[in-house]
Amino acid sequence: MHELVIRNVSILDGTGAPAQPGDVAVDGGRIADMGGGGGPGREEIDGGGLTLAPGFIDTHTHDDLAVAETLMAPKVSQGVTTVVTGNCGVSLAPIALAADPPPPMNLLGPRGAWRFAGVADYFAALDAAGMAVNAAFLVGHSTLRAGAMDRLDRPATAAEIAAMMARLGEGLDAGAIGLSSGLEYPTATAATTEEVISLARPVAAAGGVYATHLRDEAAGVEAALEEAFRIGREAGLPVIVSHHKTAGVANHGRTRATLALIDGARRGQEIALDVYPYDACSTILRADFAKDARRVIVTWSTPHPEAQGRDLAEIAARWGASEDDAIARLSPAGAVYFDMDETDVRRVLAHPMAMIGSDGIPGDAHPHPRLWGSFPRVLGRYVREEGLLPLAEAVRRMTSLPAERFRLKDRGRIVEAACADLVLFDPLTVIDTATFDRPVSPAAGIRTVWVNGVAVWRGGKVTGARPGLALRRAVDCVRPPLRPAEAGRRRERQTGGGRRG
Ligand code: ZN
Repeated sequence: MHELVIRNVSILDGTGAPAQPGDVAVDGGRIADMGGGGGPGREEIDGGGLTLAPGFIDTHTHDDLAVAETLMAPKVSQGVTTVVTGNCGVSLAPIALAADPPPPMNLLGPRGAWRFAGVADYFAALDAAGMAVNAAFLVGHSTLRAGAMDRLDRPATAAEIAAMMARLGEGLDAGAIGLSSGLEYPTATAATTEEVISLARPVAAAGGVYATHLRDEAAGVEAALEEAFRIGREAGLPVIVSHHKTAGVANHGRTRATLALIDGARRGQEIALDVYPYDACSTILRADFAKDARRVIVTWSTPHPEAQGRDLAEIAARWGASEDDAIARLSPAGAVYFDMDETDVRRVLAHPMAMIGSDGIPGDAHPHPRLWGSFPRVLGRYVREEGLLPLAEAVRRMTSLPAERFRLKDRGRIVEAACADLVLFDPLTVIDTATFDRPVSPAAGIRTVWVNGVAVWRGGKVTGARPGLALRRAVDCVRPPLRPAEAGRRRERQTGGGRRG
């Protein structure tokens, strides 16, 4: 008798192989059997011929706080079962702050949220709170800098790098999966390449990865890519190029060149990338970003909360102010910038190494719709409606590819003994419903989502369960699989029965 059997499904196993009809049985948080011959389940689900895939891995998130404090509706409603947090150089640990966090660290949460001086403390809090999804954690370079330096507008000294390495080392020991940077941001832009290489070396030694929001995603994007490749080569670790794009009207079409650069470098080192399926980005409100965009929407503003969801141009006109003056009055604030070209978005999405990362910002009052829509938008709009890539390939890029690239053990595939992170969805109806005007809206077509074998999304609602785990680097995260025969033997041993082979 299995704990759970999901019958009558079309299985996409995450490898890119074509779908196969079958049943999947789950025991102890793992996939126990796929043949349908393993007997009945205490809980039986009729999949109605829908598609069963490994749960999606959101490779690029800012969910550091949200995983601990919420049931993660924006993500589980999309079929996401694992999030990678700590991106763009900004991680909630290791730092305890008494003052307001400097931008962009404020994207993660207000002053009171910054209370984890060590990554081990943060993981302990996640373990205690429980999570709806699994979370793997990157240590942020800007967070390390803010913890070790009195001011961030200069390169770190040797002593400061040593202090950062001590905190980073503690984070790696606690199970962080790597290092992230956001070299375009004011907290990190003064850092030299050598500073980042020094920090990346112990990450390489620990078997971790380096994910980077490049120093420049506009005019200087090629040089910024070369810097990322150099960091990967000299430190000796895999590079993940975050939310790849070429921003600004002057740079439209430039992904042809950047993807060629990535493909060239991949011949000598491990490089992957992530992307979200929209032609607009979102981060803190900044005059230089606004100048590169054809439209700007305010996502939050501390002094002017009434501005959220409105266009910057309209606010400036109403105030009789220039856009620069309006930005100064609205700050601290966040924004959506329409600064990309759809052709570039498609070109990156079509790349075989492109993983999906929502880059959603869960705390925003009027968030970019990528927070609620990224994965179903790829499956509905780009796979079904536009035929940009096949369904099995899109699922591979949401599952086994990120599991492999971020070194997430036993995730991202439907195979016996893998962790039972699963999504049941309808490929004929799955679609995002979140828009720039109404961004808080669950996707259609996602039927049921299981994390470690426990349902977290069902019937259009979160279930309230928190079966998610903090995924420590290279650690086996759930108890080992118990095959039915072995479980029987174990019971016998416990009750004094002899071993019968
Ligand atoms: Zn970023």
